[in-house]
Amino acid sequence: MRAAEIRLPEDFKTPCYYYDLQFLDETLEAINKFSRYPNFHVHYALKANCNDKVLERIAAKGLGADCVSGNEVKKAIETGFGAGKVTFAGVGKSDEEIRYALQQQIFAFNVESLEELEVIDGLAEEMNVIANVAIRINPNVDAKTHHYITTGLDENKFGISSYDMPDVLAVLKRSAHLNFVGIHFHVGSQILDLSVFKSLCVRVNEWKSWFEDRGFFLKVINVGGGLGINYHQPDGDIPDFETYFRIFNDFIERRAGQEIHFELGRAVVGQCAALITKVLYIKKGIKKNFAVVDAGMTELMRPALYQAFHKIEKLNDHSSLVLPYDIVGPICESSDVFGKEVELPILKRNDYLLIRSAGAYGEVMASNYNLRELQYFYYR
Ligand SMILES: *Cc1c(COP(=O)(O)O)cnc(C)c1O
Repeated sequence: MRAAEIRLPEDFKTPCYYYDLQFLDETLEAINKFSRYPNFHVHYALKANCNDKVLERIAAKGLGADCVSGNEVKKAIETGFGAGKVTFAGVGKSDEEIRYALQQQIFAFNVESLEELEVIDGLAEEMNVIANVAIRINPNVDAKTHHYITTGLDENKFGISSYDMPDVLAVLKRSAHLNFVGIHFHVGSQILDLSVFKSLCVRVNEWKSWFEDRGFFLKVINVGGGLGINYHQPDGDIPDFETYFRIFNDFIERRAGQEIHFELGRAVVGQCAALITKVLYIKKGIKKNFAVVDAGMTELMRPALYQAFHKIEKLNDHSSLVLPYDIVGPICESSDVFGKEVELPILKRNDYLLIRSAGAYGEVMASNYNLRELQYFYYR
């Protein structure tokens, strides 16, 4: 979104999420334009944002869905993604979730352990259906991002390690209810150093050969998501999809008919929303000025959860006389801080602040803690 284009009703209430769906459309158009290589398929990772209006826009632009729970699978189907475009990942799929996804005949399960593969096989046999499975491989590529959002190292819980792979092959070979479609990777999130994706391509090629040497054809190569956004300069930021997709086209050695699948979350929705909050009180401390605002970690948890940076601006005020403020929420936790020493035009009670780049991992992580309830939403 662009701050200059924000349109709010006169009587808007806070804390609220403001969604710029037109900017989301622009972002989606860039994705569709730059992913126009043969057999490229982009899925949207629902866990980044499950707002119905957002999902409907994304589905309407033709993307598939990447889900990490049974309810996300359900939500994706309800909002128009089509079960045939849904992948289902996650280390802890329950039997109920697996049965539901089998019933819906989703595109593929991204399987994360040997035991899960055996359970899916057993449930598919019980239901007398075929399960499409992709094997999630832990590529041991360092995403060079915050350690809480790195997923592709051997020490992480995600994916199947090379140690288990011979047993995985044995199950795939003997099962009559598993349709092995390909391999899946995901190295982490908020990746801005695109060389990480080149390293991933190298691993993908190695694993592709490994399977092909053992007589398997891989129809699907799913490289996951993780492309980052610019939290420091959010205004009008559309990630560099052109370079991102080109890397995979240039570096993955493909056979005819092989498809490359992507699962982008943050890069799709990150910049289409802001959290808008009202200043309740100004506290002048001995060393600091605090602005206590009416939004907290219950509306946007990323700063409290992983010290994430979000740009904070005063709504409709660009004066150059500024003071440093610590912007803090009302929740009874010391980590309930949106930013420290943030330089802002002089603030007083009832001023409004924009907390930018709140489209991804914002609304979806909202909680009821302190019996709070997120209830205001505005759309453009
Ligand atoms: C979270 C996740 C994604 C999306 O990650 P982003 O960093 O938001 O692009 C994609 N695939 C899997 C398996 C995930 O868990």
